[in-house]
Parts: sequence; C-alpha cells; structure tokens
Amino acid sequence: MDKSKRKAIIAGNWKMNKTPAEAKVLLEEILPVAKDADCEVIACVPFVDLSVALEVTKDSNVKIGAENCHWAESGAFTGEISAKMLAEMGVPYVVLGHSERRQYFGETDETVNKRTKAALAAGLKPILCVGELLWERECNITEEVIARQIKLDLFDISAEDVLKTVIAYEPVWAIGTGKTATAEQAEEVCAFIRATLAKLYGQDVADAVTIQYGGSMNDSNAVELLSKTNVDGGLIGGASLVAEKFGAIIDAATKG
Ligand code: PEP
Repeated sequence: MDKSKRKAIIAGNWKMNKTPAEAKVLLEEILPVAKDADCEVIACVPFVDLSVALEVTKDSNVKIGAENCHWAESGAFTGEISAKMLAEMGVPYVVLGHSERRQYFGETDETVNKRTKAALAAGLKPILCVGELLWERECNITEEVIARQIKLDLFDISAEDVLKTVIAYEPVWAIGTGKTATAEQAEEVCAFIRATLAKLYGQDVADAVTIQYGGSMNDSNAVELLSKTNVDGGLIGGASLVAEKFGAIIDAATKG
C-alpha cells in the first residue's frame, strides 16, 4: 500500500488551554515552524480562540479546528455550538468523540455519530477519535472496541463523506499520561482501523483515509510512530502547546 497517496496531517488539540491573547502568541510561534511543512498542519483550539486563530493564520498553511460541535443546527442547547456556526466562521476542521468528551461529558457513540453527521452536513471535516481503555486492552478486546466505535460512529455515513473524515486512533491510556503506545501497537491498531474501513467502504476508500495516532506523541517519539505504514499523522495534546516541540513533530511527518 502506498502511504504517499494519503494526506499526512499533524493536528494540535489544545484542549482547555490558552486564552485568545495567549492563542495569538502561540500561533505566531507556530507559523514559522510550520511554514515548510510537507503535511497538513492544524491547530484545534477552544471556541473562544477561533476568531483570533482564523485571523492570525489566514495567509498561512496552518488550518484551524474546533474541539467539538453539537448535532442540531440551533435550538435549546445552552452552552453548545453548532456545526453551522463553525462553518459560517470559516472553521474547516472539528475534533469529535475525543476520549475526554466521552469520559467527562457523557459522549456516546450515538452522539458522536450525530455530531459527525452534522459536521459533514455543514461542510466541516471531522477528526473522529476512537480508542480503547487500558482495561479493554488488558482484556484483549482492543479490536472489538475499535470496530464497534468505527461502525457506530460512522453509521449511515457515505463513502464520500468518510473520505472527508480523518480518524484519530487514541488509546485512552496514552492520552496526557506520558505513556505512548509503541510504534508497533499504533501500527497494529491503525492497520486494523483501515481493514475495518475496507470492510465497510471497500479497499480504495480505506486506502485514502488519513488515520492519525494520538497519545503522548512528542518530539522524541514522533519519527518512529510516523514511520509506520498506516500511521498518517498525529493528534497531539500537550506537545502542541510548545511551538518548538510541535514543529519537531511537523518535521517528523514531513520526513516520515
Ligand atoms: C489528545 O488530547 O488528543 C492527546 C493525544 O493528548 P496528549 O498528546 O497530551 O496525550
């Protein structure tokens, strides 16, 4: 399989970090380290940072993403943001189904599916996160868990829309813990995700979908992780908040 057919994507997930003023400073530091990237570079930022982020990056190769969106176009959902609102602002990407949303905010595969459909309908590109808990890995059911998430989160979503979707494999035990999956573990599950997509949508579609690894990826382990055939990029939390480290990961993807 030819990895170069797929777009490599390095995306930062800032989580609940950086005020708008701090976001401006960080993005101004990221622009120079990203400017020669031979991969797509995205910064997924808190809702309140989107305006300034879009402004700072408007003439650059850095794209902006939100960290979630609701499935309804509008209505009585206090505190939520719709896909249509993001699209109107000019936000191209949105992270969906992040394990922190599933763990702390009651997201289920059903709501992730609804949000993914709404994002696609509004013209956004979802970065759909899936991943197993440590307990599930120890019980040897990683593949069942991942297959279930992929099937449910993408339920009733067309091949055409799946081609606009990025999948992020994020083992929950590796997120923000400093514990990284080995490159072999990351490759094994990313290959399994591709095989699951092939069963659902055919091999050609599966071969064209960008599958990222996320979970304590940093400037020291990125080269090895990104060298794997089925690892097409990274979703990066902590290390995306330090321009130098994020830049080193972008360089690793450019070479990888
Ligand atoms: C994430 O937030 O998606 C993530 C992978 O975080 P970290 O890189 O900090 O583990």
